[in-house]
Amino acid sequence: MTTRKPLIAGNWKMNGLGKDGDELAKNLAERIKKAGAAPFEMLVCPPFTLIGRVGEALAGSTIALGAQDCHSKAKGAHTGDVSAPMLADLGCRYVIVGHSERRTDHKETDATVQAKAAAAQVAGLIPIVCVGETEAERDQDQTIAVVARQVAGSVPKDSTAANLVVAYEPVWAIGTGRTPTAAEVQDVHARIRRMLAEAIGAGEAAKTRILYGGSMKPGNAAELLALADVDGGLIGGASLVADDFWKIAEAVSKR
Ligand code: PEP
Repeated sequence: MTTRKPLIAGNWKMNGLGKDGDELAKNLAERIKKAGAAPFEMLVCPPFTLIGRVGEALAGSTIALGAQDCHSKAKGAHTGDVSAPMLADLGCRYVIVGHSERRTDHKETDATVQAKAAAAQVAGLIPIVCVGETEAERDQDQTIAVVARQVAGSVPKDSTAANLVVAYEPVWAIGTGRTPTAAEVQDVHARIRRMLAEAIGAGEAAKTRILYGGSMKPGNAAELLALADVDGGLIGGASLVADDFWKIAEAVSKR
C-alpha cells in the first residue's frame, strides 16, 4: 500500500494573460471544492507574471501554487531572474526545475538544475526535478543511461521524500501527442526509484513521488496513472483546458 498521494501538476508554460489565469484557477478551485476529499493533490504552475494573481484566485482552495523555474541564488545582481524565496513569499509550495525546455533553451546543466533544486529546498519549496531522454537518445537505447546521469546530477544529495518530486518527461513526448508504452513508463519509473535509493536512501526513495509527463491527456491518463511507480502527472498542454486537466485528475480515482 503506497503512501504516495498522487500529484496532478499543471505546467502552464508561457501561456495566459490575467483574465485567462483567473478563469482557469477559479474553474479548478470550484471543481475541487465540489469534489470534497480528493484522492490527489492538485498543483498549478502559471508563468511568473500570473503567480500573484492566480494565488489570489486560489485563496482558500486546496490547489497548490507553483512556479516553472527559480534562480540558484536567494538574491542579488541577476537581472530578469526570480529567486526561490521570492516564490515562497508569493505563496508557492512547488517549483519545476530542469524542464527540458529550460535545459535546451537556456543551456541548463545537471549542476545548474541541482543548485536550483537545492535553493528551492532551502526556501521551503518542493522542487519538481525533470529528467528525460531526447528522441535520438532513445533511438540509441540511451534512455536509462541519460536518466541515470540526470538523476545523479540534478537531485540534491540530502533530499527527502518530503522535499523532492521527480518528473520523468521523455523530451520526444512533450507536446507531440506521442507517449512511451505503459510498460516502458513503468520500467523507467521503477529504475528512477532505484536510482533515488542510491542517491537518498531506499526509505526516502520508496516515499518519493515520481510523476510522468509528456502528452498526458484524458484519454491516456487512467492507464498511465495506474502504473505502480507513477505517482501523478506533470501536464503541459492539457492543463490549460479546465475540463481536460480535471478529467486527468479524476483518472486517479480509476486506479
Ligand atoms: C510539459 O511540458 O511538462 C509537458 C508534459 O507538456 P505536454 O503535456 O504538453 O506534453
